[in-house]
Amino acid sequence: MKQMFIGGRWLAAQDGRTIPVVSPADGEAFEQIPRGGAHEVDRAVAAARAALDGPWGRLGATERGRILGRIADAVLAHEDELARIEAQDTGKPTSTARNDIRVLARYFEFYGAAADKVHGQTIPFLPGHQVSLLREPLGVTAHIIPWNYPAQMLGRTVAPALAMGNAAVLKPAEDTSLSALRFAEIATAAGLPEGALNIVTGLGEEAGAALAAHPGIDFVSFTGSNEVGTLVQQAAARHAVKCVLELGGKSPQIVFDDVDAARAVPIIVRAIVQNAGQTCTAGSRLLVQRSIHDRFVSLVAEAFARVRVGTPAMDLDCGPVMNPAQQRRVQRYIDEARAAGIPVLAEGRIEADAPRTGFYVKPTLFGPVPRDAALAREEVFGPVLAALPFDDEADAIRLANGTDYGLLAAVWTENAGRLQRVAKAVRAGQVFMNCYGAGGGVELPFGGTKRSGHGREKGLLALEELSTTKTLVQFHG
Ligand code: NAD
Repeated sequence: MKQMFIGGRWLAAQDGRTIPVVSPADGEAFEQIPRGGAHEVDRAVAAARAALDGPWGRLGATERGRILGRIADAVLAHEDELARIEAQDTGKPTSTARNDIRVLARYFEFYGAAADKVHGQTIPFLPGHQVSLLREPLGVTAHIIPWNYPAQMLGRTVAPALAMGNAAVLKPAEDTSLSALRFAEIATAAGLPEGALNIVTGLGEEAGAALAAHPGIDFVSFTGSNEVGTLVQQAAARHAVKCVLELGGKSPQIVFDDVDAARAVPIIVRAIVQNAGQTCTAGSRLLVQRSIHDRFVSLVAEAFARVRVGTPAMDLDCGPVMNPAQQRRVQRYIDEARAAGIPVLAEGRIEADAPRTGFYVKPTLFGPVPRDAALAREEVFGPVLAALPFDDEADAIRLANGTDYGLLAAVWTENAGRLQRVAKAVRAGQVFMNCYGAGGGVELPFGGTKRSGHGREKGLLALEELSTTKTLVQFHG
Protein backbone atom coordinates (compact mmCIF):
# COMPACT_ATOMS: atom_id res chain seq x y z
CA MET A 1 0.00 0.00 0.00
CA LYS A 2 1.34 3.42 -1.02
CA GLN A 3 1.36 6.59 1.06
CA MET A 4 1.09 10.28 0.18
CA PHE A 5 4.09 12.61 0.27
CA ILE A 6 3.56 15.76 2.37
CA GLY A 7 6.25 17.96 3.87
CA GLY A 8 8.92 15.36 3.13
CA ARG A 9 7.00 12.61 4.98
CA TRP A 10 4.97 9.61 3.89
CA LEU A 11 1.40 9.56 5.16
CA ALA A 12 -1.74 7.49 4.91
CA ALA A 13 -5.09 9.27 4.68
CA GLN A 14 -6.20 10.45 8.14
CA ASP A 15 -9.27 8.18 8.02
CA GLY A 16 -7.27 5.29 6.53
CA ARG A 17 -9.32 5.14 3.34
CA THR A 18 -7.70 3.91 0.13
CA ILE A 19 -8.39 3.66 -3.60
CA PRO A 20 -7.54 0.47 -5.52
CA VAL A 21 -5.13 0.86 -8.45
CA VAL A 22 -6.32 -1.18 -11.43
CA SER A 23 -4.23 -2.31 -14.40
CA PRO A 24 -5.97 -1.28 -17.66
CA ALA A 25 -4.26 -4.20 -19.41
CA ASP A 26 -6.12 -6.90 -17.44
CA GLY A 27 -8.58 -5.10 -15.14
CA GLU A 28 -6.89 -6.45 -11.99
CA ALA A 29 -6.28 -4.30 -8.88
CA PHE A 30 -2.61 -4.54 -7.96
CA GLU A 31 -2.00 -1.70 -5.46
CA GLN A 32 -3.76 0.76 -3.14
CA ILE A 33 -3.23 4.50 -2.80
CA PRO A 34 -4.52 6.73 0.02
CA ARG A 35 -7.83 8.50 -0.54
CA GLY A 36 -6.79 11.92 0.72
CA GLY A 37 -9.22 14.80 1.12
CA ALA A 38 -9.54 18.26 2.63
CA HIS A 39 -7.48 17.38 5.70
CA GLU A 40 -4.48 16.19 3.67
CA VAL A 41 -4.77 19.14 1.29
CA ASP A 42 -4.62 21.47 4.31
CA ARG A 43 -1.45 19.79 5.49
CA ALA A 44 0.12 19.87 2.04
CA VAL A 45 -0.61 23.57 1.53
CA ALA A 46 0.82 24.31 5.00
CA ALA A 47 3.94 22.25 4.20
CA ALA A 48 4.42 24.15 0.93
CA ARG A 49 4.04 27.48 2.72
CA ALA A 50 6.58 26.39 5.33
CA ALA A 51 9.00 25.42 2.55
CA LEU A 52 8.74 28.93 1.08
CA ASP A 53 9.55 30.37 4.50
CA GLY A 54 12.34 27.81 5.02
CA PRO A 55 15.44 26.50 3.23
CA TRP A 56 13.68 26.09 -0.17
CA GLY A 57 12.53 29.73 -0.21
CA ARG A 58 16.01 30.95 0.68
CA LEU A 59 17.79 29.18 -2.18
CA GLY A 60 19.11 31.27 -5.05
CA ALA A 61 17.97 30.60 -8.60
CA THR A 62 21.24 28.95 -9.59
CA GLU A 63 21.07 26.47 -6.73
CA ARG A 64 17.41 25.70 -7.49
CA GLY A 65 18.40 25.05 -11.08
CA ARG A 66 21.16 22.70 -10.00
CA ILE A 67 18.72 20.70 -7.87
CA LEU A 68 16.36 20.39 -10.84
CA GLY A 69 19.28 19.25 -12.98
CA ARG A 70 20.16 16.58 -10.42
CA ILE A 71 16.52 15.46 -10.41
CA ALA A 72 16.67 15.09 -14.22
CA ASP A 73 19.76 12.89 -13.91
CA ALA A 74 18.17 10.82 -11.13
CA VAL A 75 15.03 10.26 -13.20
CA LEU A 76 17.15 8.98 -16.08
CA ALA A 77 19.09 6.74 -13.68
CA HIS A 78 15.71 5.22 -12.68
CA GLU A 79 14.31 5.13 -16.21
CA ASP A 80 13.68 1.36 -16.30
CA GLU A 81 11.87 1.32 -12.98
CA LEU A 82 9.78 4.44 -13.64
CA ALA A 83 8.85 3.21 -17.13
CA ARG A 84 7.71 -0.11 -15.64
CA ILE A 85 5.58 1.69 -13.04
CA GLU A 86 4.08 3.99 -15.68
CA ALA A 87 3.32 1.16 -18.13
CA GLN A 88 1.62 -0.94 -15.46
CA ASP A 89 -0.37 2.02 -14.15
CA THR A 90 -1.57 3.36 -17.54
CA GLY A 91 -1.48 0.22 -19.72
CA LYS A 92 0.55 2.04 -22.37
CA PRO A 93 3.18 0.18 -24.44
CA THR A 94 6.48 -0.11 -22.56
CA SER A 95 8.46 1.91 -25.10
CA THR A 96 5.88 4.75 -24.90
CA ALA A 97 6.15 4.73 -21.11
CA ARG A 98 9.94 4.83 -21.41
CA ASN A 99 9.68 7.85 -23.68
CA ASP A 100 7.37 9.54 -21.15
CA ILE A 101 10.01 9.11 -18.44
CA ARG A 102 12.67 10.64 -20.71
CA VAL A 103 10.36 13.60 -21.30
CA LEU A 104 9.86 13.93 -17.53
CA ALA A 105 13.64 14.14 -17.13
CA ARG A 106 13.86 16.58 -20.03
CA TYR A 107 11.42 18.97 -18.32
CA PHE A 108 13.63 19.07 -15.24
CA GLU A 109 16.75 19.47 -17.39
CA PHE A 110 15.21 22.30 -19.42
CA TYR A 111 13.73 24.24 -16.50
CA GLY A 112 16.75 23.55 -14.30
CA ALA A 113 18.96 25.21 -16.90
CA ALA A 114 16.49 28.10 -17.26
CA ALA A 115 16.04 28.82 -13.54
CA ASP A 116 18.69 31.56 -13.34
CA LYS A 117 18.06 32.98 -16.80
CA VAL A 118 14.81 34.74 -15.98
CA HIS A 119 15.86 38.31 -15.39
CA GLY A 120 14.07 41.46 -14.35
CA GLN A 121 14.19 44.85 -16.05
CA THR A 122 14.97 48.44 -15.35
CA ILE A 123 12.44 50.95 -16.65
CA PRO A 124 13.18 54.59 -17.59
CA PHE A 125 10.92 56.83 -15.48
CA LEU A 126 10.92 60.35 -14.05
CA PRO A 127 14.28 62.04 -13.46
CA GLY A 128 15.61 61.26 -9.98
CA HIS A 129 13.89 57.86 -9.89
CA GLN A 130 15.18 54.34 -10.32
CA VAL A 131 12.66 51.69 -11.34
CA SER A 132 13.32 47.98 -11.34
CA LEU A 133 10.98 45.18 -12.21
CA LEU A 134 11.57 42.02 -10.19
CA ARG A 135 10.27 38.62 -11.23
CA GLU A 136 9.14 36.68 -8.20
CA PRO A 137 7.55 33.32 -7.42
CA LEU A 138 3.76 33.21 -7.02
CA GLY A 139 3.96 31.24 -3.78
CA VAL A 140 2.09 27.97 -3.26
CA THR A 141 1.14 26.51 -6.62
CA ALA A 142 -1.51 23.81 -7.04
CA HIS A 143 -1.35 21.32 -9.91
CA ILE A 144 -4.17 18.96 -10.88
CA ILE A 145 -3.28 16.55 -13.66
CA PRO A 146 -5.04 13.81 -15.68
CA TRP A 147 -4.26 10.14 -16.25
CA ASN A 148 -3.15 10.07 -19.86
CA TYR A 149 0.49 11.11 -19.42
CA PRO A 150 1.03 11.14 -15.65
CA ALA A 151 4.82 11.48 -15.64
CA GLN A 152 4.98 13.96 -18.49
CA MET A 153 2.23 16.10 -16.96
CA LEU A 154 4.06 16.20 -13.64
CA GLY A 155 7.21 17.43 -15.40
CA ARG A 156 5.34 19.90 -17.55
CA THR A 157 3.63 21.71 -14.69
CA VAL A 158 5.83 21.10 -11.62
CA ALA A 159 9.31 21.66 -13.12
CA PRO A 160 8.70 25.31 -14.17
CA ALA A 161 6.92 25.98 -10.85
CA LEU A 162 9.97 24.80 -8.89
CA ALA A 163 12.39 26.55 -11.25
CA MET A 164 10.69 29.86 -10.39
CA GLY A 165 10.94 29.15 -6.66
CA ASN A 166 7.34 28.24 -5.93
CA ALA A 167 6.39 25.36 -3.63
CA ALA A 168 4.01 22.93 -5.28
CA VAL A 169 1.08 20.72 -4.26
CA LEU A 170 0.30 18.09 -6.89
CA LYS A 171 -2.94 16.09 -7.12
CA PRO A 172 -2.33 13.31 -9.62
CA ALA A 173 -5.28 11.49 -11.22
CA GLU A 174 -6.71 8.76 -8.98
CA ASP A 175 -6.11 6.16 -11.71
CA THR A 176 -2.43 6.99 -12.10
CA SER A 177 -0.62 8.27 -9.03
CA LEU A 178 2.21 5.76 -8.80
CA SER A 179 4.90 7.40 -10.93
CA ALA A 180 4.38 10.71 -9.09
CA LEU A 181 4.87 9.03 -5.70
CA ARG A 182 8.04 7.26 -6.81
CA PHE A 183 9.23 10.49 -8.43
CA ALA A 184 8.86 12.34 -5.11
CA GLU A 185 11.17 9.83 -3.48
CA ILE A 186 13.73 10.12 -6.28
CA ALA A 187 13.59 13.93 -6.28
CA THR A 188 14.04 14.06 -2.50
CA ALA A 189 17.08 11.79 -2.69
CA ALA A 190 18.44 14.11 -5.42
CA GLY A 191 18.25 17.06 -2.99
CA LEU A 192 14.78 18.61 -3.29
CA PRO A 193 14.10 20.16 0.14
CA GLU A 194 11.09 19.03 2.13
CA GLY A 195 7.82 20.76 1.33
CA ALA A 196 8.94 22.03 -2.09
CA LEU A 197 6.81 19.32 -3.71
CA ASN A 198 3.86 17.71 -1.94
CA ILE A 199 1.66 15.01 -3.42
CA VAL A 200 -1.89 14.43 -2.25
CA THR A 201 -3.54 11.36 -3.78
CA GLY A 202 -7.30 11.04 -3.85
CA LEU A 203 -10.46 11.47 -5.85
CA GLY A 204 -11.03 14.54 -7.97
CA GLU A 205 -14.24 15.61 -6.25
CA GLU A 206 -12.58 15.26 -2.82
CA ALA A 207 -8.83 16.03 -2.88
CA GLY A 208 -8.93 17.86 -6.25
CA ALA A 209 -11.86 20.07 -5.33
CA ALA A 210 -10.38 20.82 -1.88
CA LEU A 211 -7.08 21.85 -3.46
CA ALA A 212 -8.61 24.13 -6.12
CA ALA A 213 -10.75 25.82 -3.44
CA HIS A 214 -8.02 26.14 -0.80
CA PRO A 215 -7.55 29.76 0.34
CA GLY A 216 -3.83 29.13 0.89
CA ILE A 217 -2.91 28.57 -2.77
CA ASP A 218 -1.67 31.34 -5.06
CA PHE A 219 -2.11 29.64 -8.44
CA VAL A 220 -3.76 26.59 -9.92
CA SER A 221 -2.85 24.70 -13.04
CA PHE A 222 -5.43 22.21 -14.27
CA THR A 223 -5.15 19.74 -17.12
CA GLY A 224 -8.18 17.61 -17.83
CA SER A 225 -11.75 17.74 -19.02
CA ASN A 226 -13.70 20.90 -19.84
CA GLU A 227 -16.36 20.10 -17.23
CA VAL A 228 -13.88 19.89 -14.36
CA GLY A 229 -11.78 22.75 -15.74
CA THR A 230 -14.80 25.03 -15.37
CA LEU A 231 -15.27 23.95 -11.74
CA VAL A 232 -11.58 24.54 -10.99
CA GLN A 233 -11.68 27.99 -12.53
CA GLN A 234 -14.78 28.87 -10.50
CA ALA A 235 -13.08 27.68 -7.31
CA ALA A 236 -9.93 29.69 -8.11
CA ALA A 237 -12.02 32.77 -8.91
CA ARG A 238 -13.50 32.77 -5.40
CA HIS A 239 -10.03 33.66 -4.08
CA ALA A 240 -8.96 35.66 -7.16
CA VAL A 241 -6.28 33.08 -7.85
CA LYS A 242 -4.65 32.83 -11.26
CA CYS A 243 -5.55 29.73 -13.22
CA VAL A 244 -4.03 27.95 -16.23
CA LEU A 245 -6.39 25.52 -17.96
CA GLU A 246 -5.30 22.87 -20.45
CA LEU A 247 -8.48 21.18 -21.66
CA GLY A 248 -9.65 19.13 -24.57
CA GLY A 249 -9.06 19.21 -28.30
CA LYS A 250 -10.42 18.11 -31.67
CA SER A 251 -7.32 18.85 -33.69
CA PRO A 252 -7.51 18.84 -37.49
CA GLN A 253 -5.00 17.39 -39.96
CA ILE A 254 -5.63 19.60 -43.03
CA VAL A 255 -4.45 17.78 -46.16
CA PHE A 256 -4.26 19.59 -49.51
CA ASP A 257 -4.07 17.97 -52.95
CA ASP A 258 -0.29 18.46 -53.24
CA VAL A 259 0.52 16.63 -49.99
CA ASP A 260 3.62 14.47 -49.71
CA ALA A 261 1.50 11.42 -48.90
CA ALA A 262 4.39 9.08 -48.13
CA ARG A 263 5.50 11.43 -45.37
CA ALA A 264 2.07 12.40 -44.11
CA VAL A 265 0.26 9.05 -43.82
CA PRO A 266 2.32 7.37 -41.05
CA ILE A 267 2.44 10.60 -39.04
CA ILE A 268 -1.33 11.09 -39.32
CA VAL A 269 -2.04 7.52 -38.18
CA ARG A 270 0.36 7.80 -35.28
CA ALA A 271 -1.11 11.12 -34.17
CA ILE A 272 -4.45 9.43 -33.44
CA VAL A 273 -3.45 5.97 -32.23
CA GLN A 274 -0.59 6.96 -29.93
CA ASN A 275 -1.56 6.53 -26.30
CA ALA A 276 -4.76 4.87 -27.58
CA GLY A 277 -5.99 8.29 -28.72
CA GLN A 278 -6.03 9.55 -25.12
CA THR A 279 -4.00 12.60 -26.02
CA CYS A 280 -5.48 16.08 -25.83
CA THR A 281 -3.47 16.92 -28.94
CA ALA A 282 -4.55 13.80 -30.88
CA GLY A 283 -5.09 14.59 -34.56
CA SER A 284 -8.66 13.32 -34.48
CA ARG A 285 -10.06 15.00 -37.62
CA LEU A 286 -8.63 14.19 -41.03
CA LEU A 287 -9.70 16.98 -43.40
CA VAL A 288 -8.79 16.12 -46.99
CA GLN A 289 -9.24 18.13 -50.18
CA ARG A 290 -12.07 16.54 -52.15
CA SER A 291 -10.02 16.01 -55.33
CA ILE A 292 -7.71 13.54 -53.54
CA HIS A 293 -10.02 12.53 -50.69
CA ASP A 294 -10.77 8.93 -51.63
CA ARG A 295 -7.22 8.15 -52.81
CA PHE A 296 -5.52 9.70 -49.77
CA VAL A 297 -7.96 8.29 -47.22
CA SER A 298 -7.49 4.79 -48.68
CA LEU A 299 -3.73 5.11 -48.00
CA VAL A 300 -4.52 6.12 -44.41
CA ALA A 301 -6.95 3.17 -44.18
CA GLU A 302 -4.23 0.72 -45.30
CA ALA A 303 -1.88 1.98 -42.58
CA PHE A 304 -4.69 2.11 -40.02
CA ALA A 305 -5.57 -1.54 -40.65
CA ARG A 306 -2.01 -2.48 -39.62
CA VAL A 307 -2.37 -0.88 -36.14
CA ARG A 308 -2.09 -3.48 -33.39
CA VAL A 309 -3.35 -3.22 -29.86
CA GLY A 310 -2.04 -5.15 -26.84
CA THR A 311 -0.57 -5.15 -23.36
CA PRO A 312 2.38 -2.97 -22.27
CA ALA A 313 4.71 -5.99 -22.56
CA MET A 314 3.60 -6.67 -26.17
CA ASP A 315 4.79 -3.12 -26.88
CA LEU A 316 2.64 -2.54 -29.98
CA ASP A 317 1.17 0.65 -31.48
CA CYS A 318 -1.56 1.00 -28.91
CA GLY A 319 -2.49 -0.16 -25.41
CA PRO A 320 -5.89 -0.36 -23.70
CA VAL A 321 -7.77 2.78 -22.70
CA MET A 322 -7.57 3.89 -19.09
CA ASN A 323 -10.63 2.53 -17.32
CA PRO A 324 -14.03 0.93 -17.93
CA ALA A 325 -15.78 4.33 -18.10
CA GLN A 326 -13.39 5.46 -20.83
CA GLN A 327 -13.84 2.16 -22.67
CA ARG A 328 -17.63 2.58 -22.59
CA ARG A 329 -17.36 6.20 -23.72
CA VAL A 330 -15.13 5.43 -26.73
CA GLN A 331 -17.17 2.36 -27.67
CA ARG A 332 -20.35 4.42 -27.51
CA TYR A 333 -18.95 6.90 -30.06
CA ILE A 334 -18.00 3.98 -32.34
CA ASP A 335 -21.36 2.23 -31.97
CA GLU A 336 -23.39 5.40 -32.49
CA ALA A 337 -21.41 6.36 -35.61
CA ARG A 338 -21.95 2.86 -37.04
CA ALA A 339 -25.63 2.98 -36.17
CA ALA A 340 -25.91 6.34 -37.95
CA GLY A 341 -24.54 4.65 -41.07
CA ILE A 342 -21.15 6.40 -41.14
CA PRO A 343 -18.86 4.04 -43.10
CA VAL A 344 -15.99 2.28 -41.27
CA LEU A 345 -12.96 2.50 -43.55
CA ALA A 346 -10.48 0.56 -41.41
CA GLU A 347 -10.04 -1.04 -38.01
CA GLY A 348 -6.91 -1.94 -36.08
CA ARG A 349 -6.51 -5.35 -34.48
CA ILE A 350 -6.62 -6.28 -30.79
CA GLU A 351 -4.14 -9.12 -30.22
CA ALA A 352 -5.88 -12.42 -29.53
CA ASP A 353 -3.92 -13.01 -26.33
CA ALA A 354 -4.59 -9.54 -24.83
CA PRO A 355 -6.56 -10.32 -21.63
CA ARG A 356 -10.34 -10.17 -22.20
CA THR A 357 -10.67 -8.38 -18.87
CA GLY A 358 -8.52 -5.46 -20.11
CA PHE A 359 -10.03 -2.18 -21.38
CA TYR A 360 -9.30 -2.53 -25.09
CA VAL A 361 -11.05 -0.80 -27.99
CA LYS A 362 -10.47 -1.28 -31.70
CA PRO A 363 -8.89 1.73 -33.40
CA THR A 364 -11.42 2.81 -36.03
CA LEU A 365 -11.28 5.09 -39.06
CA PHE A 366 -14.64 6.52 -40.17
CA GLY A 367 -15.39 8.46 -43.33
CA PRO A 368 -16.77 10.44 -44.88
CA VAL A 369 -18.13 11.80 -41.60
CA PRO A 370 -20.95 14.39 -41.89
CA ARG A 371 -19.88 17.81 -40.64
CA ASP A 372 -22.57 17.91 -37.98
CA ALA A 373 -21.89 14.40 -36.61
CA ALA A 374 -20.65 14.01 -33.03
CA LEU A 375 -17.46 12.40 -34.38
CA ALA A 376 -16.69 15.57 -36.32
CA ARG A 377 -17.16 17.91 -33.34
CA GLU A 378 -16.69 16.15 -29.99
CA GLU A 379 -13.53 14.91 -28.34
CA VAL A 380 -13.66 11.09 -28.19
CA PHE A 381 -10.34 10.66 -26.35
CA GLY A 382 -9.84 7.30 -27.99
CA PRO A 383 -8.25 5.87 -31.18
CA VAL A 384 -11.03 7.04 -33.49
CA LEU A 385 -10.27 9.09 -36.60
CA ALA A 386 -12.94 10.99 -38.55
CA ALA A 387 -12.24 11.76 -42.22
CA LEU A 388 -14.07 14.68 -43.87
CA PRO A 389 -13.67 16.16 -47.35
CA PHE A 390 -13.28 19.90 -48.04
CA ASP A 391 -13.43 21.88 -51.30
CA ASP A 392 -10.82 24.63 -51.21
CA GLU A 393 -8.63 26.69 -48.88
CA ALA A 394 -11.48 28.80 -47.53
CA ASP A 395 -13.60 25.72 -46.88
CA ALA A 396 -10.66 23.99 -45.14
CA ILE A 397 -10.22 26.92 -42.78
CA ARG A 398 -13.95 27.10 -42.05
CA LEU A 399 -14.06 23.40 -41.30
CA ALA A 400 -10.86 23.43 -39.23
CA ASN A 401 -12.21 26.27 -37.09
CA GLY A 402 -15.68 24.76 -36.87
CA THR A 403 -15.43 23.13 -33.43
CA ASP A 404 -15.44 24.52 -29.91
CA TYR A 405 -11.77 23.54 -29.52
CA GLY A 406 -8.51 25.13 -30.63
CA LEU A 407 -5.50 23.22 -29.34
CA LEU A 408 -3.40 21.95 -32.26
CA ALA A 409 -3.67 21.80 -36.04
CA ALA A 410 -1.51 20.53 -38.87
CA VAL A 411 -1.34 21.71 -42.47
CA TRP A 412 -0.05 19.39 -45.18
CA THR A 413 0.85 20.98 -48.53
CA GLU A 414 3.95 21.62 -50.64
CA ASN A 415 2.72 25.16 -51.37
CA ALA A 416 4.67 27.51 -49.06
CA GLY A 417 2.22 30.39 -49.37
CA ARG A 418 -0.73 28.18 -48.54
CA LEU A 419 1.10 26.77 -45.51
CA GLN A 420 1.48 30.24 -44.06
CA ARG A 421 -2.00 31.45 -44.95
CA VAL A 422 -3.77 28.45 -43.49
CA ALA A 423 -1.54 28.24 -40.42
CA LYS A 424 -2.29 31.88 -39.63
CA ALA A 425 -6.03 31.50 -40.20
CA VAL A 426 -6.47 28.43 -38.01
CA ARG A 427 -7.35 29.10 -34.37
CA ALA A 428 -5.04 26.87 -32.33
CA GLY A 429 -2.24 27.17 -29.78
CA GLN A 430 0.19 25.26 -32.00
CA VAL A 431 0.16 24.66 -35.75
CA PHE A 432 2.47 22.11 -37.32
CA MET A 433 3.33 22.36 -41.01
CA ASN A 434 4.16 19.10 -42.80
CA CYS A 435 4.81 17.47 -39.43
CA TYR A 436 2.89 16.78 -36.23
CA GLY A 437 4.05 17.07 -32.67
CA ALA A 438 1.37 15.65 -30.42
CA GLY A 439 2.73 16.15 -26.96
CA GLY A 440 6.33 16.67 -28.04
CA GLY A 441 8.65 19.61 -27.62
CA VAL A 442 9.38 20.69 -24.08
CA GLU A 443 10.75 23.90 -25.61
CA LEU A 444 7.55 24.80 -27.45
CA PRO A 445 4.96 27.02 -25.75
CA PHE A 446 1.74 25.06 -25.60
CA GLY A 447 -1.87 25.71 -24.71
CA GLY A 448 -5.31 26.27 -26.05
CA THR A 449 -7.57 28.83 -27.62
CA LYS A 450 -11.39 28.75 -27.42
CA ARG A 451 -12.65 25.86 -25.20
CA SER A 452 -9.22 24.19 -25.17
CA GLY A 453 -8.25 26.46 -22.30
CA HIS A 454 -6.01 29.40 -21.57
CA GLY A 455 -2.54 30.13 -20.34
CA ARG A 456 0.66 28.62 -21.66
CA GLU A 457 2.80 25.74 -20.50
CA LYS A 458 6.14 24.49 -21.83
CA GLY A 459 8.96 26.61 -23.17
CA LEU A 460 10.13 29.76 -21.46
CA LEU A 461 6.60 31.21 -21.43
CA ALA A 462 5.69 28.74 -18.66
CA LEU A 463 8.12 30.60 -16.40
CA GLU A 464 6.14 33.79 -16.91
CA GLU A 465 2.89 31.99 -16.06
CA LEU A 466 4.44 30.63 -12.89
CA SER A 467 5.79 33.93 -11.60
CA THR A 468 4.67 37.46 -10.98
CA THR A 469 6.38 40.84 -11.11
CA LYS A 470 7.03 43.51 -8.54
CA THR A 471 7.82 47.06 -9.61
CA LEU A 472 10.25 48.91 -7.33
CA VAL A 473 10.33 52.70 -7.62
CA GLN A 474 13.02 54.58 -5.72
CA PHE A 475 13.52 58.33 -5.51
CA HIS A 476 17.21 59.12 -5.32
CA GLY A 477 17.17 62.83 -6.06
P1 NAD B 1 -10.78 14.92 -15.51
O1 NAD B 1 -11.13 16.33 -15.69
O2 NAD B 1 -11.83 13.97 -15.13
O3 NAD B 1 -9.65 14.75 -14.39
C1 NAD B 1 -8.47 15.49 -14.41
C2 NAD B 1 -7.98 15.70 -12.99
O4 NAD B 1 -8.95 16.48 -12.29
C3 NAD B 1 -7.83 14.41 -12.17
O5 NAD B 1 -6.70 14.53 -11.32
C4 NAD B 1 -9.10 14.37 -11.35
O6 NAD B 1 -8.95 13.67 -10.14
C5 NAD B 1 -9.31 15.85 -11.08
N1 NAD B 1 -10.71 16.20 -10.75
C6 NAD B 1 -11.85 15.55 -11.07
N2 NAD B 1 -12.92 16.20 -10.56
C7 NAD B 1 -12.45 17.28 -9.91
C8 NAD B 1 -13.07 18.35 -9.21
N3 NAD B 1 -14.38 18.42 -9.06
N4 NAD B 1 -12.27 19.33 -8.72
C9 NAD B 1 -10.93 19.29 -8.89
N5 NAD B 1 -10.29 18.29 -9.52
C10 NAD B 1 -11.04 17.30 -10.04
O7 NAD B 1 -10.06 14.53 -16.86
P2 NAD B 1 -9.53 13.11 -17.31
O8 NAD B 1 -10.71 12.30 -17.69
O9 NAD B 1 -8.58 12.58 -16.30
O10 NAD B 1 -8.67 13.53 -18.59
C11 NAD B 1 -9.22 13.60 -19.85
C12 NAD B 1 -9.38 15.02 -20.31
O11 NAD B 1 -8.19 15.78 -20.12
C13 NAD B 1 -9.66 15.13 -21.80
O12 NAD B 1 -10.71 16.02 -22.02
C14 NAD B 1 -8.37 15.69 -22.37
O13 NAD B 1 -8.47 16.37 -23.58
C15 NAD B 1 -7.87 16.53 -21.29
N6 NAD B 1 -6.42 16.73 -21.40
C16 NAD B 1 -5.95 17.95 -21.79
C17 NAD B 1 -4.60 18.15 -21.94
C18 NAD B 1 -4.03 19.49 -22.38
O14 NAD B 1 -2.86 19.72 -22.17
N7 NAD B 1 -4.81 20.37 -22.98
C19 NAD B 1 -3.72 17.11 -21.66
C20 NAD B 1 -4.24 15.89 -21.27
C21 NAD B 1 -5.60 15.72 -21.12
